[in-house]
Amino acid sequence: MRGRFAPSPTGYIHLGNVWTAFLAWLQVRQQKGTLILRIEDIDEQRSKPEYTQALLEDLAWLGLDWDEGPGKGGPYGPYIQQERYSLYEKALQELQAKHLLYPCYCSRARLQAIGAPHEGEHHLYDGHCYGMPEEQRRQMDRKPSWRVHVPHVSVSFTDGSYGPFSDYLPRVCGDFVVRRADGLYAYQLAVAVDDGSMGITHVLRGRDLLSSTAQQIWLMEVLGYTPPSYTHVPMLIDASGNRLSKRQQGITVRSLRDRGVQADAILSALALAGGLVSERRLYHKGELLRLCNFQTMTTHDIVLGDTWLDELIHA
Ligand code: GLU
Ligand code: ZN
Repeated sequence: MRGRFAPSPTGYIHLGNVWTAFLAWLQVRQQKGTLILRIEDIDEQRSKPEYTQALLEDLAWLGLDWDEGPGKGGPYGPYIQQERYSLYEKALQELQAKHLLYPCYCSRARLQAIGAPHEGEHHLYDGHCYGMPEEQRRQMDRKPSWRVHVPHVSVSFTDGSYGPFSDYLPRVCGDFVVRRADGLYAYQLAVAVDDGSMGITHVLRGRDLLSSTAQQIWLMEVLGYTPPSYTHVPMLIDASGNRLSKRQQGITVRSLRDRGVQADAILSALALAGGLVSERRLYHKGELLRLCNFQTMTTHDIVLGDTWLDELIHA
């Protein structure tokens, strides 16, 4: 079994990151598998090396250890996406060879105009630039993004928490971007290449990515990889229903540590809030490993209000 935690170093890690890191760690450690830490820094503008450094320190402080990744090495490296561009390039060439790749010259304004709001910030693309004659492409005076053309098929998978899905690709993702007009590789491409080439067998991550799963499975199959099994976990939200990550300045792991909160107290409080344990108390790492039960985990979003936070800080 090979699981992974794949954070983006775009800020200090907050409770939302701890929640998914903890569960990925738990799933792998309970089954005596190998945990991979992969740094997803393909968004070059938003990622910063100091955040990578900080997240390594914060995970170590939490006691969430990994077997392969930064500081550990391993046979599937490099474990930092900015060092894996040649793999993404090769994948694009394979898509090109299969006639699945095409340039899209649409402006942001056009994309917004056609975009039916769709689960989060996704916009379904209408295939406008698909099949554009070479001659017309040559006349375009903007740099294109690159899209893959998805077939009219459904992808079926069974999520470890949310059960069976059969997602019809033209409806869940449409032709999606794999390389942006600014040259950066898209998350959907990088994650499929990385989970595939790193031999990942189990992905555990936030429910916000459940709707990307079908396209990632499809892409992995096209590229000749065996897709992993997926378990999505509920999101942490605040009392007004916002993602905790939006308030991350307030609830970073660093700020909790600076206020004297113990690592195990954070994990214990999250395990209780998520329904993995039933008794309200401090659990040590070994107890969490032994007692946390994925079968009883809640599947709806988990509200962590101010009272919850006060209790954690003042316990
Ligand atoms: N890098 C993504 C994030 O920080 C996670 C991607 C994944 O787990 O597939 O949200
Ligand atoms: Zn287009």
